[in-house]
Amino acid sequence: VTKATARVAIAGGGIGGLAAALALARQGLPTVVLEQASEFREIGAGLQVAPNALHVLDALGVGERVKRSALLIERMLMRDAVTGETVVDIPCDDRFKERFGNPYALAHRADVHGALLDACKSTEMVELRTNSKVQSFSVTPGGVFVRLADGTTVQASGLIGADGVNSTVRECLVNDGPPLTSGFQIYRAAIPAERMPQRHRHAYPLLWAGPNSHVIYYPMRDRSVFNFGATVMTNDSVRKAGETVMPDEMLGLFNSYHPESLEVMSLPEQFQTWTIQYRHPIERWSFGHVTLLGDAAHPMTQFLAQGAAMALEDAACIARCVAESADVQVAFERYQELRLPRTARAQISALMIGRLFHAQGIERKVRNEIFRDRTVPEHYQRLAWLYDKPAYV
Ligand SMILES: Cc1cc2nc3c(=O)[nH]c(=O)nc-3n(C[C@H](O)[C@H](O)[C@H](O)COP(=O)(O)OP(=O)(O)OC[C@H]3O[C@@H](n4cnc5c(N)ncnc54)[C@H](O)[C@@H]3O)c2cc1C
Repeated sequence: VTKATARVAIAGGGIGGLAAALALARQGLPTVVLEQASEFREIGAGLQVAPNALHVLDALGVGERVKRSALLIERMLMRDAVTGETVVDIPCDDRFKERFGNPYALAHRADVHGALLDACKSTEMVELRTNSKVQSFSVTPGGVFVRLADGTTVQASGLIGADGVNSTVRECLVNDGPPLTSGFQIYRAAIPAERMPQRHRHAYPLLWAGPNSHVIYYPMRDRSVFNFGATVMTNDSVRKAGETVMPDEMLGLFNSYHPESLEVMSLPEQFQTWTIQYRHPIERWSFGHVTLLGDAAHPMTQFLAQGAAMALEDAACIARCVAESADVQVAFERYQELRLPRTARAQISALMIGRLFHAQGIERKVRNEIFRDRTVPEHYQRLAWLYDKPAYV
């Protein structure tokens, strides 16, 4: 086996792809990361980094850096958008940290990505290539030939498709059509903290759960800006991502909301549209020398705030499996076996949480009833499957 074929190729240098490269490097395994863009970077705003994501970042040696640059939240709060009553209030204080081994952080997406990128740059085990759009691949007896859009090829022992929700590797491998986009319209905005009424300037996310919709806002790292997102279920066709929308279009959809929430919703002068792309779980994503990771494998609705967390866990798991088996095909099978039930559970749970957030009529009353008397230990117990550290991290 030559040096070029011993390394693993990774399509995509997002949070998942970089974490996989770093995790493999820490097991002594070389990789080449093929990123289509002209530079490695993450755009966009806030990222909720739950304890399970922090466990992986800790294991990769970048946890402290991410936690230092993030806001560690005091609690998770959900209020009924119709009545204003508090439905869920989960403290994220020392009890939480003790129970789960990590706090719950609100980070800037670019900070998480930047920490992984710098760590990748500091090891010669990782080769980072930009302007390298993966177009197709062919399997050879000892691995894969990855074909790039510019006509060049890369030889590797295996290929990990970490190329996101519109994955080319998935298309070649599974070919199950484009992801689902139906029904959800998101409006996003950034609100400077000085414009926020005092009673809304908290160091935690506040979620207003309303009929067919929800609104969430939380401060970014230095608390100077709040990240705002309003999601509404619609039967109409949704707008494309990145369109600018005036407040009246958006506010008209939320007129049943509690006045306290409207105080915040009426602040932005404009909103940017965003869409959700997701899929239902599939039963297989490893095929011989090629596998999928992160959104390419299991894109989910954002209601559980776990897409990046699952990509990070995938990275830890795949590195462990590749380190344990000399045969990449065996390692990719094992990785799939370990990760599939958990990521599928996250995909399904995300949809169920969406239903809880958006409950209306009698369902709304049932939801509030379910949560009303839940104690703190009971809340923690129900989150344990997600926030506890899996064995392979
Ligand atoms: C509104 C919203 C809010 C969210 N909030 C959270 C949250 O709070 N917490 C959380 O954990 N998750 C959250 N997520 C999910 C999270 O953003 C994603 O799950 C995560 O970024 C997926 O990472 P990835 O590396 O798999 O894919 P991506 O980040 O999409 O990276 C894919 C990379 O592959 C590159 N690429 C694509 N095609 C090719 C190709 N053919 N060849 C080479 N390179 C290619 C792309 O340029 C990109 O760099 C949210 C998502 C949305 C939409």
